[in-house]
Amino acid sequence: MNIEIPKPAPVDARDNEPVPTPLDSASAALALEGLPPADIDPAKLDAAALKVLRHLRRNGHQAYLVGGCVRDLLLGRQPKDFDVATSALPEQVRATFRNCRLIGRRFRLAHIYFKGQKVIEVATFRKNPVEEVLAEDPGAAADTDLLISEDNVFGTAEEDARRRDFTINGLFYDVGLGEVIDYVNGRADLDAGLMRTIGTPEIRLREDPVRILRAVRFSAKLGLTVEPETWAAMQKQSPELARCAPARVLEETLRLLRSGASRRAVELLREVGALPVLLPSVAAFLYRGGPVEAERLYRILGSMDERILSGLPTDDSLLLAALLLRIVRAPSVEGGDDTGEASALTTIEPVLTELTRTARLPRRIAEGARLLLLAQGALHGERRKRGSPTRFMRSPHFADALILMAANVQASGEGIEALNRWRARESEIAPPGPRGPRHAPREASELPPPGLGVEALPAALSSVESFTFESSGLL
Ligand code: ATP
Ligand code: MG
Repeated sequence: MNIEIPKPAPVDARDNEPVPTPLDSASAALALEGLPPADIDPAKLDAAALKVLRHLRRNGHQAYLVGGCVRDLLLGRQPKDFDVATSALPEQVRATFRNCRLIGRRFRLAHIYFKGQKVIEVATFRKNPVEEVLAEDPGAAADTDLLISEDNVFGTAEEDARRRDFTINGLFYDVGLGEVIDYVNGRADLDAGLMRTIGTPEIRLREDPVRILRAVRFSAKLGLTVEPETWAAMQKQSPELARCAPARVLEETLRLLRSGASRRAVELLREVGALPVLLPSVAAFLYRGGPVEAERLYRILGSMDERILSGLPTDDSLLLAALLLRIVRAPSVEGGDDTGEASALTTIEPVLTELTRTARLPRRIAEGARLLLLAQGALHGERRKRGSPTRFMRSPHFADALILMAANVQASGEGIEALNRWRARESEIAPPGPRGPRHAPREASELPPPGLGVEALPAALSSVESFTFESSGLL
């Protein structure tokens, strides 16, 4: 027979009461009216963005959360920033807020400033100028240059949703009603994991070929499949990237490298045929190096992605150097030696200089990438560095150079002993503080097995045929 032992009564009966979930006032009001719960948990919304939305609405304007933040919240991800779209004209937004500044000459936006360097971006609803041209003359799509040069025509909320690039980026969120407003069928695509342009893919990509890079970034980062018609248009329009402003192309390329999904992104760029236009020197290298070198480059990019996803600071110069590292380090077709590396560096240096000149790549980033690549020879003991190793190790680029070397060792198996020697020296110079050494020394046996051996290269390289690449790309 089981005897139930009575549990002691709680010291405070309230301890056992369920804690009510705190509700935002908008949600509470909805709950009282018996309406369905909000599409997005109000606790996930940004307090500053909510203030901006309320203030605009109180002043008689329409105002919604828009774009990436709605997409990310519906996917259960933390948005990078919260953007607002409104019916208020830029001057009206400025008149509504004390802490506001208008920015941009062509595309005027309002920035509302909050404590802690927080900025909420508010954009007036706009429409797509190309739609007007096509509405008047539908036949124009066939032979007209659709590249958008002027995009500052104000419009309605629906027009603003339609001018956006992809359905998953065209969703609005009404915080008052707790409802997603979906003019573009983005919700269904988001649920199905699909990337699709709003409207006809070919027209939308001709308007702005940079959208190809954006599609690649979102698809890689969010793990979405590109819908077939959009993919076909991306393949067809990739050469048009050469016509876009180099600074915009560079900015989207850097965003792609910083996304934490650069490995997948570069694979997709290659699959879609954009790589020879965008990064001719990388594309040519991958063509020469075959699957062995491709896998090594992808692994290096994968290491950078891991850093970024675990929140470690990762400078643009490190990302750029990682992208170019195998070009510099791979054994040259002729046999691979020191001269190979030296000549690879001389091909890369003018490219970096050109990027700073035409695409406004900050000189600091180009120079940083160059130094990180240059340091590899010294780290591998192939080139003697002047001065003492200790001075070299105290230079500001040393830590990143070693990170790059470690990524290369993991990817190619080349130089494990040299890496371990540097790490040992590093921990001698800077004994572990309370948070441990900067790079915990690793045993060679702990490193993942290297990819295909260098021995496999000649076979891969024997398939190389003469191939020319456009020289108008970034790298
Ligand atoms: P992320 O989280 O990476 O910033 P995002 O969606 O916020 O992603 P942004 O580049 O910040 O991307 O752009 C904000 C929004 O502006 C996009 O969601 C999209 O609706 C719109 N947009 C941006 N660039 C374009 C473009 N080239 N063409 C059409 N719409 C665009
Ligand atoms: Mg954004």
